[in-house]
Amino acid sequence: MNDLKQKDEIQKGFYQHKEKLLKIKNLKKHFISQKGLFFGKEVRVKAVDGLNFDIYKGETLGIVGESGCGKSTTGRLLLRLIEATEGEIDFDGIDLMSLGERKLKKMRRRFQMVFQDPFASLNPRMKIKHIVAEPMKTHGLYKDKRKKKVEELLEAVGISRSYLNRYPHEFSGGQRQRIGIARALAADPQFIVADEPVAALDVSIQAQILNLMNDLQAEFGLTYLFIAHDLSVVQYISDRIGVMYLGKMVELAASDLIYDKPLHPYTQALLSAIPLPDPEVKTERERLTGEVPSPINPPAGCSFHTRCPHAFERCQTETPEFREVEENHFAACHLY
Ligand code: SF4
Repeated sequence: MNDLKQKDEIQKGFYQHKEKLLKIKNLKKHFISQKGLFFGKEVRVKAVDGLNFDIYKGETLGIVGESGCGKSTTGRLLLRLIEATEGEIDFDGIDLMSLGERKLKKMRRRFQMVFQDPFASLNPRMKIKHIVAEPMKTHGLYKDKRKKKVEELLEAVGISRSYLNRYPHEFSGGQRQRIGIARALAADPQFIVADEPVAALDVSIQAQILNLMNDLQAEFGLTYLFIAHDLSVVQYISDRIGVMYLGKMVELAASDLIYDKPLHPYTQALLSAIPLPDPEVKTERERLTGEVPSPINPPAGCSFHTRCPHAFERCQTETPEFREVEENHFAACHLY
């Protein structure tokens, strides 16, 4: 497969047509801390705090940020695996938040999840032919052709049909993730949330899985939300990248723009943390220091101001608006 050519075509496709699959408005998820309730006072953990962005059909939108920034919670909210505190999710013209259990169950075949840990996400007592067929059974699909469909899917992800009767423990980590991807594809979804899908794999296997995901995207016309903490992994697969900090999106742009011309000081700091292949080459970008503040009591104003080398007075009191600073380049920072 020619990855770059394929990626170019996908990029051209979605920028030309700009058809939106998801529109997310003011999405929030605040968890109530039990510890807080124990002391008689409600404590809110603002895991996701007011997201506004769109996802285009056929694109891969990468989401990056440090641990605890709310990226995994965002993925689960978009699939309604957890309920939002507030906000709107429009999925292909359907108001996802208003769906009752029955309609939501029907919708679920249109979006699926690929999990981080291929060792934990497959039932060890089931043969892989049953694991992959399970979503078809749940949604009543391919009744007479299930075996053929399972074989086709396993073939599409690079697993031989001669392994149909094997159990998950008989496969390597990379093979298990391939089986997890086949299962995610079984109900013909349009949208897949991949939550750190290669984080548990060896570096040599990571590239194979990313290439496979690229191939499958072209073959099945998929749209991905790809969550990762590793910026080089996200850059490899994403058309656009959203950077999250303390439950908020702070920057969103085409992948190349994020890497070549990052606007937000947090994005600049994240990029400067990527090791350079040549130790002689010096980077002038900012270094990120200090810990991420608690989402229970995030700093007032810009939540990054306690770590930002460019912070000024206004940053401590006024929350910067997430807005389009340049064409298709969004950022939340008072510098722009
Ligand atoms: Fe830094 Fe202020 Fe911009 Fe926040 S708004 S990123 S503190 S300059």
